[in-house]
Amino acid sequence: MFSFPSLFVSHGSPMLALEPGKTGPLLSSIGNKLPRPRAILIVSPHWETQTPRVGNLTAQRVIHDFGGFPQALYELDYPAAGLPALADQVVELLGAGGIAARPDDSWGIDHGAWVPLRYLYPQADIPVVQLSLQPHQPPSYHYQIGRLLAALAQDNVLLIGSGSFTHNLRDLRRNEIDGGDAPHTMEFLHWFLQQMQAGALDALLDYRHSAPHAVRTHPTDEHLLSLFFAMGASDDWTRFVHLDSGSTYHTLRMDAFAFGTQAALLADLPPALSNA
Ligand code: ZN
Repeated sequence: MFSFPSLFVSHGSPMLALEPGKTGPLLSSIGNKLPRPRAILIVSPHWETQTPRVGNLTAQRVIHDFGGFPQALYELDYPAAGLPALADQVVELLGAGGIAARPDDSWGIDHGAWVPLRYLYPQADIPVVQLSLQPHQPPSYHYQIGRLLAALAQDNVLLIGSGSFTHNLRDLRRNEIDGGDAPHTMEFLHWFLQQMQAGALDALLDYRHSAPHAVRTHPTDEHLLSLFFAMGASDDWTRFVHLDSGSTYHTLRMDAFAFGTQAALLADLPPALSNA
């Protein structure tokens, strides 16, 4: 049975929406390569809640959840539909796994969702459901949320964890959008790739104690937790494709990953390292 690969995407700064760099074209080619899903379920670290909330609007509400950016950014839209029936299914699947989730019509889609979606599916013609993130919970919890929802990938739903592979906003060189790669962020990346290639789930879930520069690259780790969601949401995370779109502002890694038996669909994209 076909199972959609799950994705982790780095959404970087909101300016990504106006300045595609390498990431915008990469996300567009991912959208072009994959079969068309019937719906998208996306986790964003910009919707933080105590327990999971699942957006159940029939038409999406785009949230411009940032300040101090050019006016053009506030005019961008992503007029996708929602899919309340999928939201109900998510609540049910999480509940069956002992995680109490609730439908929610107070949010919508924030920039962690709509900025990458504008590149992935620019027509905004696929229904989107956003799932909130629990930043106080460990990687194992987010992996488990993914496991509980992985069945949706066989029901034509594309599951995406949006975040940032590294995310220390005090470490940015704000005037250097193409500022090269900071060595410590590359060490952090290479450690992840090695552990993934070795299938070392326990080490990955314990990355905060095991990975080099873990706390420096993620002073708080809400932008990495959706990676563990994406791993859990695949049918086999040890088969993965790493898509390298480099760094922005020297320290903000823009990596994307596809996980699962069908991740190989993306193996021939130009920046890909395939373990699928
Ligand atoms: Zn963000």
